[in-house]
Amino acid sequence: MSMRRSFIAIVFALMSAGFPATAQTHTTPRTVPYFEFHNSFWLNLHQTLFCQASTSIADEVPAKSSAWELALKFYKDHFTGHSLLFDPQLVEVNNWLATQPDEGKILDPSGLPPDLPPDLGKILQAAAGTYRIQWVTASSQNELWITKMEAGINALAPSIVPQLEAALGMPWPQQPIRVDVSNCVREIGGAYTTDDPPHTTISSRDEKNQNIAGVEIMFHEATHTMAGKTERAISSECAAQKKDCRDLWHAVLFYTVGNAMKNSLPKDEKATFVPYAYRFGLYNRGAWKIYRIALEKDWQPCLDGKTAFADAVRSLVRDI
Ligand SMILES: [Zn+2]
Repeated sequence: MSMRRSFIAIVFALMSAGFPATAQTHTTPRTVPYFEFHNSFWLNLHQTLFCQASTSIADEVPAKSSAWELALKFYKDHFTGHSLLFDPQLVEVNNWLATQPDEGKILDPSGLPPDLPPDLGKILQAAAGTYRIQWVTASSQNELWITKMEAGINALAPSIVPQLEAALGMPWPQQPIRVDVSNCVREIGGAYTTDDPPHTTISSRDEKNQNIAGVEIMFHEATHTMAGKTERAISSECAAQKKDCRDLWHAVLFYTVGNAMKNSLPKDEKATFVPYAYRFGLYNRGAWKIYRIALEKDWQPCLDGKTAFADAVRSLVRDI
């Protein structure tokens, strides 16, 4: 069975079974969605320029124009080597463009954060005409991805979200997490999440973000908004045990979401489901080889309700 057929089968099975009618369902039903998906022209333009300025991908290049070349040069000059996730200016640009009306012909310059390169608005404005040609295809790819992901998320969220809240000891954000879908997102895994406000940007074309793995990575991105307690607990335990735990907290997020996914799938799908971090070899890299062993030994019992959070964190840090 192909991945796509398998994914559709999962969604169908969950929906037709009225899933989930389990004890893990919220006691008070949530009245707003968990995620709010957007397919924004301006944000896609920005992400596409950032991608092209960072690499040369033939099928990403729209019809050439002097305005586009100028925009590419601007992005190379200002943002080469910068991270979409960690660079404050790039985070600001992404948040600013998310507020612009999709069909708006003119960017609202009053919203341009003052510390951004002042010509950025004009540069994007000039390049927009060229990108409109590519946008027809890019937009429909994004829409298709959103439709498929929403079906999977809506079917699984009532079971998965309470498990994540219990494991991480923090609530899902009250308001829906804004998700901007873009053809190209130049970050590890083709997805990243920034806070204040929570904002996920994800690639609709990255092959790892498709089907059931795409649903899983959406829940993973969401855990970045509720990881504070776990990060602090690991950090202070690492200090107490004089260990360098690096990104152990991030491995905990991957493991926790993979476990919640597995718990929430119908029986037949559960048997063949491979969590994202196993499927894409994250646990084969460097320290994560040890993290995986420790997570299976020390964190899994906590997820199963057999050990307390603090004890699990202590054991986890001891075993890496
Ligand atoms: Zn992550």
